[in-house]
Amino acid sequence: MTSPASGADGAADLPDYAPIPRSALGPPLNDQGYHVGRIERNLYWVTDGVYQSAFLTTPDGVVVFDAPPSIGNNIRRAIDEVTAASGAPSTVTHFVYSHHHADHNGAAFLFGRDVTRIGHEETRRLLLRDDDPARPVPEVTFADRYTLEVGGELAELAWHGPNHTPDNIYIHFPGHDTLMFIDVVNSGWVPIYNVNLSEDVMGYMGAPAIALSYPWTHFISGHVGRLSTRDDVAVHQQYIADIEASSREALASVDPVPFYVAGGENFWAGIKGHLDTVTERAAAPIIAKYTGVLAAADIEVFTRTTTFQIMQSLRLDRGPSGPVHP
Ligand SMILES: [Zn+2]
Repeated sequence: MTSPASGADGAADLPDYAPIPRSALGPPLNDQGYHVGRIERNLYWVTDGVYQSAFLTTPDGVVVFDAPPSIGNNIRRAIDEVTAASGAPSTVTHFVYSHHHADHNGAAFLFGRDVTRIGHEETRRLLLRDDDPARPVPEVTFADRYTLEVGGELAELAWHGPNHTPDNIYIHFPGHDTLMFIDVVNSGWVPIYNVNLSEDVMGYMGAPAIALSYPWTHFISGHVGRLSTRDDVAVHQQYIADIEASSREALASVDPVPFYVAGGENFWAGIKGHLDTVTERAAAPIIAKYTGVLAAADIEVFTRTTTFQIMQSLRLDRGPSGPVHP
């Protein structure tokens, strides 16, 4: 249902989507627009309700993990607030990139020149490519694993292959019962367009199992206004598994031939008819099942575009893409 156009940008035309369950939202923000919370001991998370950052306070200085520009200088305010109360030093000495994306790290430049920046070697390569002064390249890089120890506190960084991006890493805090892993699970919410704007669909689909293979109670997902639980990751996993199963069923049951016959010499019209029909058939039961379970599941384009990507990955990565000509 839409109302008549009233704004030049169309923003007034938003349909009446289902209400967002209270459980999908986080704590209220302060007057400056952020919330800082203690996860365990000296590990904290900061959110603006949509993005997340984290920091460790130690006797030798503060370690910051990700700097979304939307939180920006509120990361500094959150650190000052926490260290003023605890008496720990407030100087940021180390900065860790989860991955190279600007929406999670476009405020990385805020922490000065003397900060030691750490990231995966692919993060460094991509940041050199992107050439964005807001995201200084990490000078400390690693290939598979890196143990960061500052002031007696540990963060275990690990790369387990490409997923959302080629460089997206797992950050485990063994002394804080916490895992930070960004842009795969939006706890309590559906992934946005195209498997959450991810590059490697197979890697994205396998990532939650890797996350769950670590011991942790608290999960920093990079998005939404609250921390996550193992149950949140399991619900996300089920959503993706349901899309995979539904896509397999739709690929097997929709006969492509009539679409290509109808398209005639316009082969692309045949492809559109076939793949759109498969996508629609695969996505419809998922949208119905998860509306009311995951927030924004009724914004159908998210599940539909994610289904399209997964269905393509089933054809192109796993195969077969189609019958072999006799
Ligand atoms: Zn990202």
